[in-house]
Amino acid sequence: RRRWWGVVRVFDEFEEAASTPVGRLRQVVDAMAVEMHAGLASEGGSKLKMLLTFVDNLPDGSENGIYYALHVGGTNFRLLRIQLGGQRAILEYDVERELIPQHLMTSTSEELFDFIALSLKEFVERKGNNLQIPQVRGTNLGLTFSFPVKQMSVSSGTLIKWTKGFAIEDMIGKDIVECLQRALSRRGLDMTVTALVNDSVGTLALGHFYDKDTVAAVVIGTGTNACYLERADAVIKCQGLLTTSGGMVINMEWGNFWSSHLPRTSYDIDLDAESQNPNDQGFEKMISGMYLGDIVRRVILRMSLESDVFGPVSSKLLARFVLSTPSMAAMHEDYSPNLSEIHDVPLKVRKLVVKICDVVTRRAARLAAAGIVGILKKIGRDGTGGITSGRIKSGKSGKMRRTVVAMDGGLYMSYTMFREYLNEAVAEILGEEIAPYVILKVMEDGSGIGAAMLAASNSAQS
Ligand code: ADP
Repeated sequence: RRRWWGVVRVFDEFEEAASTPVGRLRQVVDAMAVEMHAGLASEGGSKLKMLLTFVDNLPDGSENGIYYALHVGGTNFRLLRIQLGGQRAILEYDVERELIPQHLMTSTSEELFDFIALSLKEFVERKGNNLQIPQVRGTNLGLTFSFPVKQMSVSSGTLIKWTKGFAIEDMIGKDIVECLQRALSRRGLDMTVTALVNDSVGTLALGHFYDKDTVAAVVIGTGTNACYLERADAVIKCQGLLTTSGGMVINMEWGNFWSSHLPRTSYDIDLDAESQNPNDQGFEKMISGMYLGDIVRRVILRMSLESDVFGPVSSKLLARFVLSTPSMAAMHEDYSPNLSEIHDVPLKVRKLVVKICDVVTRRAARLAAAGIVGILKKIGRDGTGGITSGRIKSGKSGKMRRTVVAMDGGLYMSYTMFREYLNEAVAEILGEEIAPYVILKVMEDGSGIGAAMLAASNSAQS
């Protein structure tokens, strides 16, 4: 059996194929900006859907009252209750997380929403300061639903497709708010959904509540997505779009971004082919928490076929998703001298596993960073000429303004190395002159809190 050198060769090839020098990242930046433009120019013009959200006024801190929000979008389901006091004050804030039972992710829409409505009812009873159910009558509810949705208005929209392991066929094309509203009335809960948003839009809303220079939001958790504030007249596919502010939040659905400049390896190709949604969500599969651990597993599996330094090929390694991203992070960030997070293999092999984690995480973080700078380029906040008529302009623009990007998601929040690589790469791509103007701000639970705030601002308007 070939031994160590074979393993090293597999590693070297992988590291090379997954490399992200700043020149390549800048190509990804340009590709992102160009695709954004194409997605705004015509329906189906790009893999980026660039969906209208009908959110044209973001919270500004003046919101008042008690609001609830639900967040459905991945591994966890969240229930929130928030009391706003005007003047940027959050007087009270409660959040509870529940795991969505696995079987519901592939059941029927009625079963899923029944579960959600029942959880909300119990939450309201627990948190409502002994309010009786009838007393929440008419209370406004924000719903964060983190899957691609075609919005008809700020409080209605139909599901385009599932991602992240969900597969409930009868939901596709249905109005999500209607489904929830029906389940709520079955449970006798008289609440009104006044905002249907995606997680990134919620995060942008919370970011803007605190800081008016917030122009974009990125969520990196189980999946990944981004949104930003666009000028209404730049939404070419929707001529004559009228908004009170002259702008509109665009939900990019950037998980589906693709460009030939992305450093794709054979492991990515296999992961995609074996996934529930092949040829779909290509960017997400290189970046987000659902997949990073599995890329590492694939590299280790390949190595253990090459050599017996890992011992006999373990059948465990053959199972998809056995190595979760949190476990991967624990191995990667293991600072004990003998790397005790990784078991049963010699130290030099353990060190190699750490290096694999590093390559996978670094690539993911740097590609996400390039995506962020791509958004800034599209709206002329990256210090260059930006983009007009679908073409990248070169050279410098005039004055740079303070620019804030709101960040949320379990991967960004909890995986320190990932966060540091991402922050570092944004600065590296922008260069030292521009980087100080761009601030990434963590908005923990922003996706849910922001939805509650949007429920507030939309009820105030209507
Ligand atoms: P959602 O499932 O709605 O995206 P989160 O934003 O909380 O929820 O993201 C959860 C995901 O974040 C997990 O699936 C996991 O991939 C990733 N994650 C959470 N904690 C860690 C951690 N300590 N290290 C690495 N990844 C983590």
